[in-house]
Amino acid sequence: MNDFPARAVVDLAALRGNVRSLAAHAPTAQVMAVVKADAYGHGLVPSALAAVDGGATWLGTAQVSEAIHLRRAGVTGARVLAWLYAPGAPLRAAIEADVDLAVAARWALDEVVAAAREAGRTARVHLKVDTGLGRNGLTPAQLPDVLAAALAAQAEGALRVVGLFSHLALADDPGHATVAAQAEEFARAVALVEGAGARLEVRHLANSAATLTSPALHWDLVRPGLAVYGLSPVPQLGGPERYGLVPAMTLEAELATVKPVPAGSGVSYGHAYVVPGDTVLGVVPLGYGDGIPRHASGTADRWGGPVQVGGRRLGVAGRVCMDQVVLDLGPDAREAAGDRVVLWGDGRDGGPTAQDWADVAGTISYELVTRLGARVPRTYVDSEQDAGAAGTTARPADVEVTA
Ligand SMILES: *Cc1c(COP(=O)(O)O)cnc(C)c1O
Repeated sequence: MNDFPARAVVDLAALRGNVRSLAAHAPTAQVMAVVKADAYGHGLVPSALAAVDGGATWLGTAQVSEAIHLRRAGVTGARVLAWLYAPGAPLRAAIEADVDLAVAARWALDEVVAAAREAGRTARVHLKVDTGLGRNGLTPAQLPDVLAAALAAQAEGALRVVGLFSHLALADDPGHATVAAQAEEFARAVALVEGAGARLEVRHLANSAATLTSPALHWDLVRPGLAVYGLSPVPQLGGPERYGLVPAMTLEAELATVKPVPAGSGVSYGHAYVVPGDTVLGVVPLGYGDGIPRHASGTADRWGGPVQVGGRRLGVAGRVCMDQVVLDLGPDAREAAGDRVVLWGDGRDGGPTAQDWADVAGTISYELVTRLGARVPRTYVDSEQDAGAAGTTARPADVEVTA
């Protein structure tokens, strides 16, 4: 056990199962598991390995350094694409590590060509086109020139244009006019690039939401991120169970203090909550320093972020602090210091989920898991293997893996 009194327990079997479900949603496409931002807070390398075990043939990162890290950690069973970098990025190291690179600007093409020449290797490039997200990517107006330059570099052997991709602005609203407009713009870009003679291995457009809701957008490869971790990218349409997904992360802590206080006691900074009667308070040793959103604080008449303790569901009482939150356990509380508290998990036992926290905090579940602080240890369990080995579905001993 780590000495930090809280941890994120990640079930590798859930990750594998989620990738299998996503593959079933997109039977004609390959699956790229997006593992940027430390695998949405779940731990880069263990999550990537589990995704590959589940059938992902590609891994996607934002930063080039994340992609190189995967390779150096021995993740070799999948293609890896990195799509976001600024001038001066370690592109030569990426090419030498067998990483595919996105090109989203003319300067990026020039740097990839230079890095490939230095490495004495042929870079694999995916042109990224901005079909309407208004973020990274070549605009349709920029595409023809960069394509021509890329094909010239291809003729010299510096690179191969193996992919064309784009990203959707409103995939979580599948009927929105921008989704159809971006899909059309993407099809035009594909026709342009293939018409110019590029032999594309993979054309890819779909994130988690489009993978689950828009089969027409799957093309050759889907790029789910959030759904790999078992969270719904379209909570207004359905929770994870609707899509065959299971949240992989359980955030749990031990109660640090349990103590009786009299009616009228103020709780936490600002006394935003005052106990209505004699009660027992419990302190949970996680706070905004760990990524617990301060916007999930409780107020005088509303509890904050949900917590499960002793089979009961409570909410944060008063303000979320840097290192801790407080619970009003009620006058008959039987909890003691050291008892386990769950902030979010798979929700299958009626317990709270990251989506519940997102709803209270006015954000998205992506932000909850991704911003979980670095000091919270990630531990890994495998509910399939551990259950089989122990002959029981009881909670297995935690396996420490350094992410
Ligand atoms: C983050 C990202 C994804 C994954 O998005 P989800 O909504 O988490 O599925 C896919 N493609 C690109 C380019 C991204 O930046």
